Amino acid sequence: MSRSKTYRALVLQVRQSGEQNREAVFFTQEEGIIRATLFGGPKSKLRSYVSSFHQGTLWVYEDPVRNSKKITDFDVQFWRPALRESYARLMAGSTLLEIVLASQGGGSSWEEAFTLTTETIETLNTISEQSIPSLVTYFFWNWLKQLGLLPELDQCQHCACTVRPDEVVWYSSLKQQALCGSCITGEEHTQKAGLFPVNGGGRRWIGRILELPPSQIERYRLDEPSLRQVQQLGTELLQHALGEPIRYWETL
Ligand SMILES: [Zn+2]
Repeated sequence: MSRSKTYRALVLQVRQSGEQNREAVFFTQEEGIIRATLFGGPKSKLRSYVSSFHQGTLWVYEDPVRNSKKITDFDVQFWRPALRESYARLMAGSTLLEIVLASQGGGSSWEEAFTLTTETIETLNTISEQSIPSLVTYFFWNWLKQLGLLPELDQCQHCACTVRPDEVVWYSSLKQQALCGSCITGEEHTQKAGLFPVNGGGRRWIGRILELPPSQIERYRLDEPSLRQVQQLGTELLQHALGEPIRYWETL
């Protein structure tokens, strides 16, 4: 028995499959990540529709016996041409899609993860280029929230003191916990490479952006050194969760 299904979908990846066909990976609001085959040669109109960053309504014909899915139509509502016209946007966008793919779409709620991803990609299409690093950092931390992996940064996990709002907190990637200034002095020399500082401004920024839609990110600016700290820790935590490197900051 075969059946048709409709999804709200974002194209994550498209790959050649054989001579004529393509294999597409979508992030859907209904079922998370799905893979489906796009049949047809270079003249097929669907081929230009099913392309990374495009978002819309997807129709899929499912064959449970063969365990295969075939794309029957894709009505694109968001084309996002700016993502292909700027290297910075394309790099940032590709990194976000890779993270979604590597974490199998998130985990807790498809709808929330889908909204976060598509709104961030949509904002990336229109935001000023200088705000792109903030937006990517926004996504990293909100994605960690989706994965249920936000670290406790307001309390030292070693001496249990509550850190002052202006105090620097050190996240130890080896111990996977936050430490106050007095608790790191002993291990500073042996584990220096695994310690990530986050100052008070950075922690407040994280707290704020977790409550905001991505379109509001330019309203909450963070100074360059603090943003760098928040970026580095966010990257470290995501890499640890995904078990693979995130190369975004290297390519800038
Ligand atoms: Zn402490």
